[in-house]
Amino acid sequence: MTVRMRHTRSHTGNRRSHHALKVQNIAQCQHCAAPIRPHTVCMNCGRYQERQVVDVLKKLTKKEKKRKQKELAAQEAEAAESKPLDAASLSKK
Ligand SMILES: [Zn+2]
Repeated sequence: MTVRMRHTRSHTGNRRSHHALKVQNIAQCQHCAAPIRPHTVCMNCGRYQERQVVDVLKKLTKKEKKRKQKELAAQEAEAAESKPLDAASLSKK
């Protein structure tokens, strides 16, 4: 072991003042409403900004695939049902 330079509690505290964890931002997938990190592909439905970029069903077995397809269809229906109000759709009425 090397002999380290003298340090004080103050120096230790100063160094550790940057060790705190930051709260992650969590957005909602526009398609399936799953919680996702902003600017990332949704790993639940494989979409990025309403565009399919990852085939989430590819690696699954036949049984899992069927279940996942059913789940996604249900989420899609639910998301379409509970869409938030926006100015464009309100102005049509
Ligand atoms: Zn999604």
